[in-house]
Amino acid sequence: MTGGESGESVTLDLLKHKMAEFAKERDWDQFHSPRNLLLALVGEVGELSEIFQWKGEVPKGLPDWKEEEKVHLGEELSDVLLYLVRLSDICGVDLGKAALRKVELNAIKYPVGSKGSAKRPSNNNSNNGDSESS
Ligand SMILES: [Mg+2]
Repeated sequence: MTGGESGESVTLDLLKHKMAEFAKERDWDQFHSPRNLLLALVGEVGELSEIFQWKGEVPKGLPDWKEEEKVHLGEELSDVLLYLVRLSDICGVDLGKAALRKVELNAIKYPVGSKGSAKRPSNNNSNNGDSESS
């Protein structure tokens, strides 16, 4: 994925550094506690949810959406991502590594043999916030 006019590659690390710089320049580090960032993240998830609220199921690719609706969606998705990246940074979690590890754990938990089934293993009592289903 590339971004911006410069065509620079967008990585979690780039976003992390841009967010850190943004906060530092505004003296906002004092407000960026884990709790504050988590609440901001949840607020942005709410704003993202509002876009889909009352629309019912929408087809993949959002073919019937107006351009400004898609732009707005991109903005709210970005708000969620940026707060998630910032929260991870402030908590000292390497989000990229943690996410890759989680994908590997999910692959073990849901082997390829379970292809096509949305069913979760019935003996799964762990509540570790799986994110493998789309
Ligand atoms: Mg927002």
